[in-house]
Parts: sequence; C-alpha cells; structure tokens
Amino acid sequence: MSDYRYPYQDGIFVLNELIGLEQICHQAGLDDVADGLAEAILDEATKMGSEQLAPLNRVGDSTGATLKDGQVHETPGFSDAYRHFCEGGWPSLGADPEFGGQGLPAALAVAVNEVWQSANLAWSLCPLLTQGAIESISAHGSDQLKQQYLPKLISGEWTGTMNLTESDAGTDLAALKTRAVRDGDHYRITGQKIFITWGDHQMTDNVVHLVLARLPDAPAGVKGISLFLVPKFLLDENGNTTDQRNDAYAVSLEHKLGIHGSPTCVMSFGDNDGAIGYLIGEENKGLACMFTMMNDARQGVGLQGLAISERAYQQALTYAKERIQGTLRDGSRISIIKHPDVRRMLMQMKSCTQAMRALTYVAKAESDQHAAETDPAVKAKRKARVDLYTPIVKGWITELSQEITYLAVQVHGGMGFIEETGVAQHYRDARILTIYEGTTGIQALDLIGRKTLADGGEALSALIAEINSDMSEITDPKLQSVVTSMQESLSNAISAQQWILDKAAKDANVAGAVSVHFMMLLGYLCGGWLMAKSANRALSLQAEEGADQEFLESKIVCARFYAEQMLPRTVSSLNAIYSGDESTMALSEDQF
Ligand SMILES: Cc1cc2nc3c(=O)[nH]c(=O)nc-3n(C[C@H](O)[C@H](O)[C@H](O)COP(=O)(O)OP(=O)(O)OC[C@H]3O[C@@H](n4cnc5c(N)ncnc54)[C@H](O)[C@@H]3O)c2cc1C
Repeated sequence: MSDYRYPYQDGIFVLNELIGLEQICHQAGLDDVADGLAEAILDEATKMGSEQLAPLNRVGDSTGATLKDGQVHETPGFSDAYRHFCEGGWPSLGADPEFGGQGLPAALAVAVNEVWQSANLAWSLCPLLTQGAIESISAHGSDQLKQQYLPKLISGEWTGTMNLTESDAGTDLAALKTRAVRDGDHYRITGQKIFITWGDHQMTDNVVHLVLARLPDAPAGVKGISLFLVPKFLLDENGNTTDQRNDAYAVSLEHKLGIHGSPTCVMSFGDNDGAIGYLIGEENKGLACMFTMMNDARQGVGLQGLAISERAYQQALTYAKERIQGTLRDGSRISIIKHPDVRRMLMQMKSCTQAMRALTYVAKAESDQHAAETDPAVKAKRKARVDLYTPIVKGWITELSQEITYLAVQVHGGMGFIEETGVAQHYRDARILTIYEGTTGIQALDLIGRKTLADGGEALSALIAEINSDMSEITDPKLQSVVTSMQESLSNAISAQQWILDKAAKDANVAGAVSVHFMMLLGYLCGGWLMAKSANRALSLQAEEGADQEFLESKIVCARFYAEQMLPRTVSSLNAIYSGDESTMALSEDQF
C-alpha cells in the first residue's frame, strides 16, 4: 500500500486559480487540455505515482544501485516502473511535437513532475536529467543531432545525463580538465567526471551523456569550455543503437547519505581510444549550452524541495493522528495532533508546502507565457522574470525543505530517528537538494549578481511592483493581517534591494556575505504574495454555490499562519543584511 497521494485539490487550485492554466492552454491552441483533460492527466499521474513509484521509494533506499562487471544495475523494480512510465507517454508530456512530444504546457508538466518526485525522488532524477538534456539539444544542437537523438530521448527510449563535475572542478567549472580533440566529423573525449547522476543503468538500451570538455587550443577559464554529446552506444546510419560500445564507462558508484536509489557514478571517458563525442553548439561556447540544461534542472530541483516536503508532511500528519500520547483531565488518552506544539509544526509544514507549490508552478507558467509571447519587449521582460525566479525557486525552496523534513522527523519523536518509520529517509534524501545544481551560496550569488546588480534591480523592481499592486486589491477585512504583514515584508525587500544596489556593486565581499539572506528574504516574500493571492481567491470562491468550504477555509487559515509566523523572517533577513558583511569578514583565517 502506498503512503503518498498527490494533493490534488491544492494542485488544481494553483493551476486554475493562480496560474490560469485554462488561458495558457487556449493560447497554445490546446482547447481539449483546457476543457478537463488537464485534470484527467493529473489524476492518471497520481495513480501511477501512488501505486507504482511510491512503494519503490523505500526499496531504493535499502537496496541502492550496484556496479558489476562494468555495468550499473539499478534497484530491483525500477526498470519495470520506468517501462510503465514510458508506455504511459509520460516522458513526452511537455516536449516539442516536432520530435514526438505532446507539447503540453510546462505549468501542467510541473504538477505531473511533482508527483514523480514526491513518490520516488531517487528514481525521478533519471527523467529530470533527460528533460534537461532534451532542452539543451533542442536549443543548441545541430539539425542532425536533433533528428538522431531527440525522438528517443523524448519517448524515454534513451535517457540523458549531465557531466560537469570533476574532482577539482565543482562550483568552479573554469578548472575542468576533460579534453576534446577534433577527429574528422567528431571529437575524441578523454577525462574523468565525478558525481554523475544516473550515469549508467540497464533501464534503456542507450544513455546520452552531455559532457563539458576543453579543446587543446581553447582559451583559459569558462570561455574555453565546449559541450559534447557522448552516447553510451554508437548509432548506425539510420539512427539506431548498435552494439558498438563508446569509450565511456561508469567506473565506480558513490556511497551517499541519501537518494540511494539514484546511481551517482564516476564516469571515465576515453580510457582506450577516446570516447566519440559530437559538438553541441559552437566550440568554446559550451557553458551557455549547459546553462540551458542547468536552468531547467535548477527549477526542477526546487520542485524536488516542494515534492519531498509534501511527502514528509503527509507522513507526519498520518503519524500525528495515529500516535496516542497524553491524557486529558477526564482521563481520556489523545493523539498527538491535539497538542498545540505538534499543530504548530504541522501548520508550518502545510502552509510552507503550499507556498512552495504556488511558487514553483507560477515560475513554470511564466516560462509558458514567455514561450507564447510575440511582442519582443514583453518577451524580454518575461525572460527576465523567469531568470529572476530560478535562483529563488532553487535556493529558497530547497533550504526550506530542510526545515520541513526536519519537522517531519520531530513530529515522530523518537520513532523519527528510527529508520523503520521511513521518515528519516526524506530528511536524508532532502539534504542533497541544497548542494547539487549549484549550492545555495551559488544560487544566491546568481540572484544578487546576474539577476539584481546586472540590470540595476529592474526585474526585481517589476516583481515588487506587481506584488504591491496585487496586495492593494485585497480589501476583505478577513485578510487585513495578511496584507499588513505583506506590506511590511515588501518594505523590507525594497530596503534590502536599495542597500544592495548601493553597497554590493562596489564590493564583492559585501555581495557574497549577504546574498543568502537576500535570497531567503525574497523567497519568503514570494511565498507570502502567492499565499495572500490564494486566500483572496478562496474568499471569492466561498461565495459560489457548491464550493468546498472546508478546503477554501483551510487555504485562508494557512495564508494567515504563513503571514504571522513565516513573513517576520524577512525582518531578521534584512537586519542580517545590514550588519552581515562586517562581522562575516572581520576574522582573519587564523582566528577561526
Ligand atoms: C548526489 C550528487 C549528485 C550529483 N549529480 C551531478 C550530476 O549529475 N552532474 C554533475 O555534473 N554534477 C553532479 N553533482 C555535483 C554537484 O553539482 C556539486 O557537488 C556541487 O555543484 C558543488 O560542487 P563541489 O562538490 O565541488 O563543492 P565545492 O565547489 O568545493 O564547494 C564547497 C563549498 O564552498 C562553497 N563555494 C565554492 N565556491 C564558491 C564561490 N565561488 N562562492 C561562494 N561559495 C563557494 C560552496 O557553496 C560549498 O558550500 C552531484 C553531486 C552529488 C553529491
């Protein structure tokens, strides 16, 4: 039996009431999706997630992948689940119809992806990385590469990987040493990559690696990095997999704190003749191509933060209702959900998870709107908004997911620390989310540097103005306290932005020392914005005949809780920004 179910009502609420999925679908000419198909798709995904993927989550934790005779063997059961996933047409949901995709909106695909990630985080990494590879090849690959590789990646027949990291080149990709040498119409790749997620497995008959490498005559630093497509098995002239193995092997597996079901491989390229690779984009312009993949994956990892928080919340809630501990004055024994402090933890989990869901879906809907926009000036603004959301979605949500999974363990008391309950797995699995696809520190530097200082705060000011305008439309006295908290938070965000524009542009240490506080402040603000909008919408819907009063009332209560207990964190973030740089940089290295 499964212990996970997608929170269908909340997901549909965000899609219909916050994002306007119907309008996005009509804009894209997908009238049938607008007229009920979206709900049916989500319903089917929920079944697959609950019935097939969720029960394998514990199996993946206890029986991780193994490496035998140069081949990685995934957790038993994963391959069957993957086959069902492909038979159901799930990999192609949001992909380009020109290459066999179904072309559904990214906003709907993100809800479906939440299901896979909540159900089985380790397993879901495989389709997530494939999705990133599809994006990168679509945006930068030659026509030939697109024709050869996209249809089979989109159908799920093959999977994709992302090969950036080396032992001396993690955050600092400029240091990477993997080499690529021209050899006729292709290149020969030599080098070793570490930490490669789903670098090898037996679920499909080919794996398509996207590999960053350096040409012999390349300029130093990030300007000398190129991107290559390196298949595990080479293709024949008809684009079919041959049995000719490319010189690319998984040579060991990492032993990890969590996500045991996801094989994390050390990949060796070119130990024999050099692995055959095909250039994606132009020589020395590889980092930009890889960023297409990374930006997609960064929002995907933010979604993982939401997904694992939801799963942990559901488990904590079930436990809190079942665990009897405590006695009332009349002698009756009570379950722990009756204790106010347990309710505080559950409310924090519930309201934060809703805020995370709203932000991840809204950010993806912005990508749909950007893609559909034809006016160049508006399109540029939409692009700037997508770019601004990316580090907040990745950084804030994954940091918050640490707290939510921590609380899930806490609700379980001592049993939370015992592996058999399974809640500790979510706590361990969540820990990677603030590290891969760029650590929290790197997301925050991206937000402060490329997304704030670089445009003089223009994109952020537009977001703040939109939030402000939305708040001015909330007039119902029931939401007065929410609006007041939001106004204070907006003022904190404006002060933080001004301080950063004044000081951080002049001093990189200032920017670096306060950037995470800034990112967290904006994350709490965005969460509060969407919770307030949701509550306002819920109030209007309550007046409609047949409305689900219980659900709508709970949306309003969650928004109030979030405003009262989470938004005050913007004050401490602002105070930390004001003073952070001086004390952070004051000690010499010897004084630590
Ligand atoms: C389970 C797992 C799966 C992974 N999957 C993949 C994958 O599929 N493909 C792939 O290519 N990589 C993958 N990675 C690698 C991952 O992306 C890197 O581990 C991550 O980017 C951090 O790099 P690093 O480990 O070298 O840490 P370091 O770069 O050494 O960072 C250490 C600390 O220093 C900080 N730091 C470093 N530089 C700066 C800076 N300039 N400014 C501020 N702070 C800084 C970091 O924030 C961090 O706190 C995976 C890693 C793990 C553990």
